Amino acid sequence: MTARMNKHIGIIGAGFAGMAAALELHDLGFKVTVLEARDRVGGRVWSTTLSNDEIVELGGEWIKGRDNQVLGMIDRLGLSKAEVGVNFLERKVIVGEPVSKDEQEGAHDIAEKTLASMNKDDIKSRSIGEFINALPLNEPQKIFFYSRLQTSFGIDLNKVALRMIEDMDGNSPRQTANYRGGSYFRVASGNMSIAQAIADKLDDVRLGHEAILAEQKQKSVTIRGKTSDGPFQLELDAVVFAIPVNLLADIEFVPALPNPIKNAINSVTMGTAAKITAATKERPTLRAYHDSETPYWCWTGRGGDSNVRKVITAFCGSATPREKLGLNSNDPNIWFKELKSMNPDLDFEGDAIMVDWSREKWTQGCYSAFSNEATDNIPYLKKSVESIFFAGEHTAFNSATMDGAIESGLRAANQVYKEFR
Ligand SMILES: Cc1cc2nc3c(=O)[nH]c(=O)nc-3n(C[C@H](O)[C@H](O)[C@H](O)COP(=O)(O)OP(=O)(O)OC[C@H]3O[C@@H](n4cnc5c(N)ncnc54)[C@H](O)[C@@H]3O)c2cc1C
Repeated sequence: MTARMNKHIGIIGAGFAGMAAALELHDLGFKVTVLEARDRVGGRVWSTTLSNDEIVELGGEWIKGRDNQVLGMIDRLGLSKAEVGVNFLERKVIVGEPVSKDEQEGAHDIAEKTLASMNKDDIKSRSIGEFINALPLNEPQKIFFYSRLQTSFGIDLNKVALRMIEDMDGNSPRQTANYRGGSYFRVASGNMSIAQAIADKLDDVRLGHEAILAEQKQKSVTIRGKTSDGPFQLELDAVVFAIPVNLLADIEFVPALPNPIKNAINSVTMGTAAKITAATKERPTLRAYHDSETPYWCWTGRGGDSNVRKVITAFCGSATPREKLGLNSNDPNIWFKELKSMNPDLDFEGDAIMVDWSREKWTQGCYSAFSNEATDNIPYLKKSVESIFFAGEHTAFNSATMDGAIESGLRAANQVYKEFR
């Protein structure tokens, strides 16, 4: 028996980051306990089944053909993927001035060339909002490009560092340029199957367990928290915190985390996003429609059997569309009506399901957003403190994605392994 087999590692949070860390440590021979506040695993990846049996994603959905961490995990777990058949980046503008495919691609080209010609100090001081506003694009092109990026980032683009445009796959002019024409996937049985399949391999996943305090002792950590039955306490050799960055700021660490780490955590903000999804009576045609004014977008896609699924899903991000789409009043019928008028060819079945991720207690936002100050602090987000380690999408190069979450979990597991091997 190796030394590490006697070591007990706690993972706080059963999202993709925590579950990837748990699987890796379990396979390396550690004793692993996962503590999850919700009554399900998956975190911001949440698949459900509609009345017509279609599996839909209420959270993380699009897997790019070069999201190697997610694709690798799908293979590792023996799951099947479905190719969506729709390009995330190429949209038909239904509300707002039309922008042709060439103009959409042209906006990327211009952004990419402009970024490449800027000096590093200039890039370091700018926001994405300032950058796009200064690009030589025609007005409809600019409005479309701005609204598409702001929707994806989930926050006012004036608050996001220009450096993040290089860091976010799918939103980056540079990286997008490489990816144009690429394929997109979902897990055929729902993206949440990744977390579920990992949970099935683990011995100890405790749902309904909220961690509140972590006390670092000599070479061990005590976690205190609560369940619906009352408080709990667990003694561990090490702990990986894999919870959203805004909720990490509420955890009490004893002794307190070093200031640079605390400041880094506090400097990251969360964007806001929501999704709505509804069953259709017939198979719709493939589509990716965009409303540049509200803004939001919607799409259909293929399932594991290659047929177009009888479902349409829409996404909105940032505070701008919230009032118009009924998110402030939490009324799904307002957005559903908009969705119907954007897709007059479709007949719907049953009610729509809407999830506003700002209202989800264990997320309170959609994903991390980095200002220039927060971007400077990035190296501190993945630093360990004695036996406390950190994972989560906000600690990854591809932050705000499922791919980044898995990458971060595997990286944290490797840090733990190096400590105890
Ligand atoms: C609407 C939406 C759409 C998205 N679309 C895409 C997409 O198309 N493609 C893509 O790649 N990514 C997408 N993402 C992003 C992606 O889903 C996330 O980046 C990723 O799932 C985050 O994983 P994580 O493990 O870091 O965090 P989470 O999934 O949030 O996991 C953290 C877990 O910690 C738990 N927790 C919180 N506090 C505590 C506590 N105190 N004690 C115990 N447990 C706690 C939470 O309940 C949660 O289960 C989307 C996200 C949202 C919200």
